Amino acid sequence: MKLHILGCGDAFGSGGRNQSGYLVEATDKLFLLDCGPTTLLALKRAGFDPRRLDAIFLSHLHGDHFGGIAFFFIEYLYFQPRLEPLIIAGPPGTEARVRALFEVMYGGGATEKEIPPTRFVVLRPDELAEVNGIAVAPIRVPHQSDAISLGLKVSCEGKTILFSGDSLWTERFVELAVGVNLFLCECSFFREEPGMHVNYQALAANLSRMGCKQLLLTHLGEEMLSRRNEIGALLAEDGMVLEI
Ligand SMILES: [Zn+2]
Ligand SMILES: [Zn+2]
Repeated sequence: MKLHILGCGDAFGSGGRNQSGYLVEATDKLFLLDCGPTTLLALKRAGFDPRRLDAIFLSHLHGDHFGGIAFFFIEYLYFQPRLEPLIIAGPPGTEARVRALFEVMYGGGATEKEIPPTRFVVLRPDELAEVNGIAVAPIRVPHQSDAISLGLKVSCEGKTILFSGDSLWTERFVELAVGVNLFLCECSFFREEPGMHVNYQALAANLSRMGCKQLLLTHLGEEMLSRRNEIGALLAEDGMVLEI
């Protein structure tokens, strides 16, 4: 199984990096973790046909994580129609927000006919889900107070990825990372602490306790990028491909 980093930047396009998008390529599955505004172009740049995409899993409904779905919809409506419905799995409220996004951007989406065939799946914290043969264990992470943000533990073909989504550091990451093939952890800041995000000091204090096979830091802000030489963990790059 491979993980293609389509976008490892933050909401601000720090370092000229794409916004959140991670493509998992398994033997007979192709799915995204998050779908920021730059995801369709990065998917094409990586050489993939968007019609091959089985599912999109969303960690939360901030624009840098789901704003790219509207472009997939117009791709499927007007350029390359899909044969099978697209599955979009995300926290409660995902279907309404995705339809509202499409309506704002292209003036449609309120009714079934105006978006391409799509199956929405609600992911709830601590409720295991099976989506098209992909096992998902969502956990609620501390990132927003008014809506649910999820971390996602995703298993497919015997391999498991833990994805933090956007989150303040939480002790649950240590517990959930045990034995996973990859922990894809956001690390927006080095020392600063604005908003609910991981800063590297909190993560570094726990590095020796991390039981994952690989750790990759992502959602990197300017402060992290400017101090990259001081970081004792692998940093994501757009276009990077990891064997899981
Ligand atoms: Zn974000
Ligand atoms: Zn966010």
